[in-house]
Amino acid sequence: MLNNMKGQISILVKLQKIETETDSIKLKLSDVSKRLETLDDGLKEVERTIEDQESIINELKKRYRDYEFDAQMNLELEKKSQEKLRSVKTNREYQSILKEIEDIKAKNSKIEDEMIGCLDLMDETEKVIATKKDEYLQLADSIKNEKKSINQEVEQRKKKLAELETDRKGVSGMAEPELLKKYFIIKEQNQGGLAVVPVKDAVCHGCNVNLPPQLYNELHRCETLKFCPICHRIIYLKES
Ligand SMILES: [Zn+2]
Repeated sequence: MLNNMKGQISILVKLQKIETETDSIKLKLSDVSKRLETLDDGLKEVERTIEDQESIINELKKRYRDYEFDAQMNLELEKKSQEKLRSVKTNREYQSILKEIEDIKAKNSKIEDEMIGCLDLMDETEKVIATKKDEYLQLADSIKNEKKSINQEVEQRKKKLAELETDRKGVSGMAEPELLKKYFIIKEQNQGGLAVVPVKDAVCHGCNVNLPPQLYNELHRCETLKFCPICHRIIYLKES
């Protein structure tokens, strides 16, 4: 095993690279359902705005019908007053009915203003709805495309994961079992992070601390497994 140390370390480095890539792909895959949900949420929001605006339109229509009814009632009242006017006996009575008619006309003019206001609001709301419906169609279309590309991406990643798994099995099989065990223990101690790190110019790239000169010299001989005295990872020499 001693003579083979360099080879064994390079197997571990390969294994680590495969596992790091696997983890990163798994992380991206776990994010996919959230990404799809976010896309749907955007669409639902536009849908809700359209529904809100449609209920505003319905409310305005109802209000308009109420005004129409009031206006009709007032016209009939006015007609009755006009008839009364023809049969009055005194000037006082005549003046009082004239006043009545004026009041009714004033009321109706107010109602007409309200009706016009209602129609204006309906127009504006219809425009908002039309814009939102366009927005909805465009968004639905782009979401459809985006989902398609996300699904393609998922397929590619799953394929890559399967390839990496084959590689991982192959590389693990080449490692000395004892060394492999140490590798996994150190990886575990680093919360799944790096277990094997290079040393360049006497600096450990796991913790960026300078190695003692003696250890650095021994590392050059590459006879036994070496560990960083600070971060306790497996170290290997990488020429600068
Ligand atoms: Zn270190």
